[in-house]
Amino acid sequence: MRIVIVGGVAAGMSAASRARRFSPDAQIVVFDRGEFVSYGACGLPYVIGGEVGDFGDLVARTPEQMRARGIGVRTRHEVTGVDARAATVTVLDREAGRTTTEPFDRLLLATGVSAVRPAWAQTDLGGVHVLRDIPDGRALEASVAGARRACIVGGGYIGLELAEALRARGLSVVLLERGPEVAGRMLDPQLQAQVREELERGGVDVRCGVTVEGLTGTGHVTGVQTDAGLVRADLVVVAVGVKPNVELARAAGVRLGKTGAVAVNARQETNVPGIYSAGDNTQSTHRVTRRSVHIPLGLPANRMGRVAGVNMAGGNARFPGVVGTGIFKTFELGVARTGLTQTEADELGLNAVSVDVTSTDHAGYHSGSRPIHVRLTGERGTGRLLGAQLIGRNHLSVKRVDVVAALLGTRATAQDLFDADLAYAPPFSGVWDVLLVAADRLH
Ligand code: FAD
Repeated sequence: MRIVIVGGVAAGMSAASRARRFSPDAQIVVFDRGEFVSYGACGLPYVIGGEVGDFGDLVARTPEQMRARGIGVRTRHEVTGVDARAATVTVLDREAGRTTTEPFDRLLLATGVSAVRPAWAQTDLGGVHVLRDIPDGRALEASVAGARRACIVGGGYIGLELAEALRARGLSVVLLERGPEVAGRMLDPQLQAQVREELERGGVDVRCGVTVEGLTGTGHVTGVQTDAGLVRADLVVVAVGVKPNVELARAAGVRLGKTGAVAVNARQETNVPGIYSAGDNTQSTHRVTRRSVHIPLGLPANRMGRVAGVNMAGGNARFPGVVGTGIFKTFELGVARTGLTQTEADELGLNAVSVDVTSTDHAGYHSGSRPIHVRLTGERGTGRLLGAQLIGRNHLSVKRVDVVAALLGTRATAQDLFDADLAYAPPFSGVWDVLLVAADRLH
C-alpha cells in the first residue's frame, strides 16, 4: 500500500501520522512545495507581534523527525499533475528542476488555500504582503523592521490580529475595510462596533466602507489609493480572504462543491476512487444547517486529515462536520462565535431570535472581573440553539463559546444549555454564568 499525500501542514501531516499508526506497513510519502511542514500557521501573527520568539517555534515536527517516524517527507517538491486512471502523480523537484512520476494506491489532496490577491495587489512593489505561511511571515517581518506606516487591507480575523501585532511593533496602522464594519463575516452588526472601538483604543485608524483602487510607489510601496483618498504606507498587508487550492483536484476529475472547495463524503473520499481530500481545500457539512460550507480553520483541517489518514490505511473513520466555531483576540478583546449569527439564520430563512446579555465574566465583586457580552440565537418555537457570539474584555473569557459549540452538535435547545451544570467559583464566573442567563432569556 502506497499512500501519497500532497501538502504537509495540518491536514496532510495529521493524515500521515494517523495512517502510520493505523497501518505500520504502508509506505507513506508527503510532498510539499514549500520548505516547511508540520507547523502552526495560526501562530504567525504572534511571531510578528513578538509574543512568539521565532518562526521556527511554530514547527511541531521537522521533516527529519517525520522521517524517523517512518513518514517520507519531501519538501520543495511540487505535485504538478494527477493521472487518476494510471494512479500516478507528477512531481517537480523544485531544487533539482527534475520531474518524476510517482505511483499511489491512495492519494490525499491536502493543498490548503491561497490568499486572494485582487488585481491591484498583483504587484512587484516591495513592502506588499500576504500572510499564509512561514516564508510570507519572514518576508513580512523583514519589511516591518524598516517600516513606519502600515496599511492593512481587510477587517477579517487575520487583519485584526495583525493590527495588534503591528501596533505592538511601534508602527502606525491604518486598517481599511470595504464593508460597513470590521469582523463583518463573523458577527452580527450589533456587535461589530465593539471590535472597531477596541482597535481604535489600541491606536488603529479604522476606515470602513472604503474600497482600494491601487497602490502607489516605484520599487517600494508608498501608499494605498482608495475611493476615499490616498493612505500613505510603506508596508501593506493584503488580508481580503482566501481561495481553495483545487487545481490538482480539477485535473484529477475530482468534483468540486458549491462552495468552490473539494466535495467529499464523511470518510473524506472524493468522487474519484482512491483519491481523498482534507483540510482548507475541502468543504464540509454544517451540523446546524446540514448545508455544505467552506470554513478553512485549524481544528477541522487536522480532524479531516486524521479521518482521511485512518480511511486511507484501511480503517473506517467519519468526519462529523463543523458548526462554524471561530475565535480571535485583538488587543484586550476576545471575540468568539459558533453556529449561526442572526444575520446568517435570517439569510437561510430560519425563524430565529437572539437575546443579548452583558454581564461580567466572573463574580462582579471579584477583582479581576471584566465585561462580557453574549448574544445567543435560537429557533423560535422549538427553542433549538442555533448559535452564539461572545465579546469579552478579558480575552480568555470568550472561550466559554465551547459549551455552546459542543451542544450545537447535538441539536440541543436553550433549555438544555440552561440545565447544564457549569463550573462555578468567583474567580471564574458568576454563579449564574452569562451563558446560563442568556439561555434562560431565550427559552
Ligand atoms: P495549509 O496549512 O494551507 O497547507 C497546505 C500545504 O499544501 C502548503 O504547505 C502548500 O505548500 C502545500 N501544497 C499546496 N499545493 C501543493 C502542490 N501542488 N504540491 C505540493 N504541495 C502543495 N485557524 C484557526 O482555527 N485558528 C486560528 O487562530 C488561525 N489563525 C491563522 C492565522 C494565519 C495567519 C493563517 C494563515 C491561518 C490561520 N488559521 C487559523 C487557519 C489554519 O492555519 C488553517 O486552517 C490550516 O493551516 C489548514 O491546514 P491545511 O493542511 O489544510 O492547509
